[in-house]
Amino acid sequence: MIPPICCLCHKDYYDEPPGCAGEFVKFKNYQAINEVNTDTGAFTLNEPSGYRYFCSRHLPHAVALSHKTAEEAFDALQSQFADEIEQIKQANQPLSLWQRVKRAFNQ
Ligand SMILES: [Zn+2]
Repeated sequence: MIPPICCLCHKDYYDEPPGCAGEFVKFKNYQAINEVNTDTGAFTLNEPSGYRYFCSRHLPHAVALSHKTAEEAFDALQSQFADEIEQIKQANQPLSLWQRVKRAFNQ
């Protein structure tokens, strides 16, 4: 299973208010997860391709690009939200010793 975590900003489905969460988007290259092997009749569960989760903020932008493949849409969204993604990365980085000392003195 693909975890419901926004592939752009890594926001978790459970971090959003109920009823306002994101959703999975099926792109042009979506392939269903259920496949039956025609030779053996065996049923296999594969990771679906062309299928990504987006948080409520990024969902409308992803849906607007769902006529593209997941990879094309992801590249386009990454450049569209480059600044925002960079800010999130920096906010999630551990603070250096100097930053922690500065923060302690400012409290
Ligand atoms: Zn997001």
